[in-house]
Amino acid sequence: MSVKILENQCNGCGACVDRCPFGAIEIVDGIAKLKDNCTGCGACGKACPNNAIEVTKKAKKAPKNNDEYKGVWVFIEQRTGKIDTVALELLSEGRKLADELKVELAGVLLGENVADLAKECFAYGAEKVYLVDGPVFKDYRTDSYTEAIVEIINQYKPEILLFGATNNGRDFAARIAVRITTGLTADCTALSIDPETRLLRQTRPAFGGNVMATILCPNHRPQMATVRPKVMKMDEPDYSRIGEVIRCESSVKEADMTTKILDIIQSISHTVNLQDAEIIVSGGRGIGGPENYRLIEELAEALGGVAGASRAAVDAGWVPHYRQVGQTGKTVSPKLYIACGISGAIQHLAGMNTSEIVVAINNDPEAPIFNIATYGLVGDLHQIVPMLTQKIKTLKM
Ligand code: FAD
Repeated sequence: MSVKILENQCNGCGACVDRCPFGAIEIVDGIAKLKDNCTGCGACGKACPNNAIEVTKKAKKAPKNNDEYKGVWVFIEQRTGKIDTVALELLSEGRKLADELKVELAGVLLGENVADLAKECFAYGAEKVYLVDGPVFKDYRTDSYTEAIVEIINQYKPEILLFGATNNGRDFAARIAVRITTGLTADCTALSIDPETRLLRQTRPAFGGNVMATILCPNHRPQMATVRPKVMKMDEPDYSRIGEVIRCESSVKEADMTTKILDIIQSISHTVNLQDAEIIVSGGRGIGGPENYRLIEELAEALGGVAGASRAAVDAGWVPHYRQVGQTGKTVSPKLYIACGISGAIQHLAGMNTSEIVVAINNDPEAPIFNIATYGLVGDLHQIVPMLTQKIKTLKM
C-alpha cells in the first residue's frame, strides 16, 4: 500500500498521529507530514475524519498459470562432490510421483565441477539434471543457492519440488518458497498424488504428533515439501540408465554475495550413526535408570548394531539426546529394530516405523508397540535382554 497526505483537506487535527503504530506522522505547520519510517500500512487513512489521507493498494501480481508448471524436481544436495543420501531417497520417491503424473523426474544440482554426479541421479530414476556449475556454488550458501534455484524455477517451471529436511534444505527451501510466492510443507512423512486433482498430498505430523495432517497447495506452483532423511525408501540404483544434463546459466556473481566461506571446520561427530545403522537396539523408560542402559548397549554391540533411545529415556537424563529416535530425534529405517521398555507412542513410531523387522520387549501385553512389532516378547527386559545378549555371543563363538 502507499499513503499520501492531501494537504488541501488536512486541518492538522492529529488523529492520524495518534493512530499510526510506527510514530511515522508528525504535524508540521498545521499539516500532517509522513516521516521516512512510514511503512504504508494505511492505519492512518481510517483514522482521518477529513478524508485527507489517500491509501492506495498496490496492484496484485498477475496469478501464475499453473498449467505451465510440469514435472517433479528433487534438489540434489551434495557436499565435497558426494550426494547426500536423502537426495537419492527423494529421487526414488519422486520417480513414483512422476510416474503417477506421467511427467519427467529431474534433479537440480548445484556445485563446482559436479557434472559427474548426474550419472548417480539417472541411476536413481531422474531423466534430466538441471546443472548450475561454477566456483560461486562450490559450497552451500543461502544467498547464492536461493538466487540460482529461483532463476531456474522461473525458467523451467516444475510442478513439484522436493528437498531433504537437512540443515541446508530447511534453510533455503523456505526462502525459495517466499521468493516465488508458493507454499512449503516441512518434514513430510508421506507424499502421494491425489488422483482426481493431480495435487501433491503432503502428509506430516501436526499438533505435537497427535494427528497426521495432509496438506495441499492448490493455488500456487511449484508445490514444495521437505522430507527428513530415512523417511523414504531408496530404490536399487540402475547405472545403465542415462539422461540429459541441462547446463543452466546463472546471473549469480561472487561480488553480489553477502557472505563468504572462509573455512570449513568438520564438527567432531559422535561415533554413533543411528541413521545409517542396519541394527538398532533402543531403550525406553522401562529400563528403569541410567545404569541399565548398558544392557541395551551390550545387546547392540553383540549384534554389531547401535544403541538408541526413546525421548522418555533422554528426557530423564539417562541417555544423551543424539541417541533419540522419533519425531524430534532421528528418523531411522534399519533392517532390525529392537525396542526395549518402549510403549510405542506415535512420536516414537514416527521415527522408526519403516524398520524392516521390529522386535518389541515389554512387560505390558497391551503396549501399543506390539501393534507394529514383527515379533513381541512379553516380559521383564532386565531378564530378557541379558539372555539375548548371552545367546548371541554364544552363537558367534
Ligand atoms: P513410556 O511411554 O513410559 O513406556 C515405557 C514402557 O516400558 C511401558 O510400555 C512399560 O510397560 C514398559 N516397561 C516398564 N518396565 C519394563 C520392564 N521391566 N520390562 C519391559 N518393559 C517395561 N518420544 C520419542 O521416543 N521420540 C521422539 O522423538 C518424541 N518426540 C516427541 C515430540 C512431541 C511434540 C511430543 C509431545 C512427544 C514426543 N515424544 C517422543 C514423547 C512420546 O510421546 C512418549 O512420551 C515417549 O516416546 C515415551 O517413551 P517410552 O516409551 O520410553 O516411555
